Amino acid sequence: MAKNASANQLYGGIDVGGTKVLALLVDRNGSVVSASKRKTRGELGFRSVCERAAEAMREAAEIEGYQLENLAAIGIAVPCPVLPTGCTAPAPNLPGWKNAPLIRTMEELTGRPVYAENDGNAGVYGEYAFGAGKNAKTLLGLFVGTGIGGGLVYHGELVVGENRMAAEVGHIIVQEGGRRCGCGHKGCLEAYASKTGMARRFSWEIIQEGRKSAITQVCPDGNYATVKSSFLREAYRSGDPVVVETLQEGALYLGVGVASFITLFGPDMIVIGGGVFEALGKELLPSVKESARQRTWPEASYRDSKINLALLGDHAVGLGAAAFAMHSLDRDTRKSKSKSKAGK
Ligand SMILES: [Zn+2]
Repeated sequence: MAKNASANQLYGGIDVGGTKVLALLVDRNGSVVSASKRKTRGELGFRSVCERAAEAMREAAEIEGYQLENLAAIGIAVPCPVLPTGCTAPAPNLPGWKNAPLIRTMEELTGRPVYAENDGNAGVYGEYAFGAGKNAKTLLGLFVGTGIGGGLVYHGELVVGENRMAAEVGHIIVQEGGRRCGCGHKGCLEAYASKTGMARRFSWEIIQEGRKSAITQVCPDGNYATVKSSFLREAYRSGDPVVVETLQEGALYLGVGVASFITLFGPDMIVIGGGVFEALGKELLPSVKESARQRTWPEASYRDSKINLALLGDHAVGLGAAAFAMHSLDRDTRKSKSKSKAGK
């Protein structure tokens, strides 16, 4: 039998990734009540991905005896910018997402109010609402994995700029004329500190310089960007010089980026997460901090910004999507109340 208690207390948070869709049922305190997963199957097109996302959300609710109608609202996070129209900008990993009507389609499939955000922004919002940034006012988040995602929350609001594409933290330039980035520019932070960026250095050291590294055993095809973070941790801890130097270089450049963010925004908290830092946060965070300290005014700006590891792991984006939905629904409810008051 379907439950209907605490109907207004439950929210959905959906994380649409390149390979899987994760749907979380979340309460107002940020506790994950239940979860359900599907394969993304991006090759089947936009509508099909939305259908699987809605299915996963329905299943997460039903595990606990609820139905979609019991959710106050649903947040969905996607790997591309979401435009003010509720449609998406093209997603590099998902064919057919250019100008796709994301909010309209998800509302039609779930019958609930839907709010949508880019996944990097959602991850930061999750840490802000329920994770390492819970007590922060201005929070900058960086998630280091295959690429570098993240964003900025200022006093409760995501900073997205007038073009909805700002705070793309992985694509600030940290080296003029430097390594080529997947986005087409040269010298982006992502080209140095993400796995894709580090893979370029691995190739250089192994192929051009002829150095030996254990990484050649786990990536015999030379596709070093696919290396697991758990392997990097092992190799780092065993002192593999190519791995240690490359990861330390990544940490140094991450500090270069963090220094610019501190100087520009003065955040009281910076959280760093993603697969690489979940595996090696303890080892790499001190280097990030030192690099950032050297490039800011230590007494005037650096000391006011705490730099910590993210706490929510794989759930950050889904929880952030749910938190964003809570926040947006509250805001819309307040707005319509004050409108109806003014109309009296
Ligand atoms: Zn770039």
